[in-house]
Amino acid sequence: MRARDFAGRHALVTGAASGIGRAVAQRLAREGAVLHLTDLRADDLRSVRARIEESGGTVATAYAADISSIDEVRELAAAVHAETPAVDAVLNVAGIAVWGTVERMSHEQWRSVVGVNLMGPIHVIESFVPAMIEHERRGHLVNVSSAAGLVGLPWHAAYSASKFGVRGVSEVLRFDLARHGIAVTLVTPGAVATPLVRSIQVAGIDTTTPEFERLRGHFQRRAVTPEQAADSIVDGMLRRRYLVHTSRDIAFLHALQRHLPPVYALVMDLANRAVSRLERRLP
Ligand code: NAD
Repeated sequence: MRARDFAGRHALVTGAASGIGRAVAQRLAREGAVLHLTDLRADDLRSVRARIEESGGTVATAYAADISSIDEVRELAAAVHAETPAVDAVLNVAGIAVWGTVERMSHEQWRSVVGVNLMGPIHVIESFVPAMIEHERRGHLVNVSSAAGLVGLPWHAAYSASKFGVRGVSEVLRFDLARHGIAVTLVTPGAVATPLVRSIQVAGIDTTTPEFERLRGHFQRRAVTPEQAADSIVDGMLRRRYLVHTSRDIAFLHALQRHLPPVYALVMDLANRAVSRLERRLP
């Protein structure tokens, strides 16, 4: 999909009410795309729609849905396909962050993170990509994974289960969908300064303490803005790149993992020790 291709093309964006999803929707609107926006939060979705339309963008549908529910995603697909037989681009951005050690994570937390972050994109793919194939859209599928879809960060077992899953689906579809002319882009953000940074749940840990605030501050200092992340994503789509990092630190860590495995293992070990020290100081 080249720059001029966005004009008049239909793009579905999940997680469009906030953070990276909202910024991607705004950038695609500036590129002339016809947007289909969705999110769990209907009120915020309405305000994002209004803001995009006020600045001259085109929003064909803004339909609230819970992506972890196949029924709701099928209803969303019916609403979108009533406007266009198929979309040209699907951007799976919506997600949640639930971290924690295995001894603290509840079964419900494992299920919810996998339900939203992995089953959500799967529901969207199964409800939208077959129509793209049938109508020969030759478009683009973008899946937002995470640095935690590449490397073994502390406290990230459940989150990484979901994000490595998204990476696995993308790695296969990258080749499977090529025969239909559909490009696949896998996005692996590091820190991005979005409301997610405040909504992170860590099983069994009070995230409002000054100790945890210091950790959050460390994360935020390294963070790129949602607009910078959105630019990396859209520029990656324009170049039809498979892997898109939104910050250099993650590109570096990924290179360490592949080319210097012992150094990567040392970095992960140090990160685990730091988190264990922090855990001991937490109430
Ligand atoms: P955000 O919280 O600002 O936005 C996420 C959006 O997803 C919200 O509007 C939320 O309502 C929506 N959402 C959550 N659960 C949903 C559900 N069940 N159905 C439909 N919508 C739902 O977060 P963000 O930082 O913009 O995150 C976007 C994506 O980027 C996520 O997949 C996240 O895992 C990933 N990511 C973010 C960071 C970061 O540092 N912010 C880092 C790595 C990966």
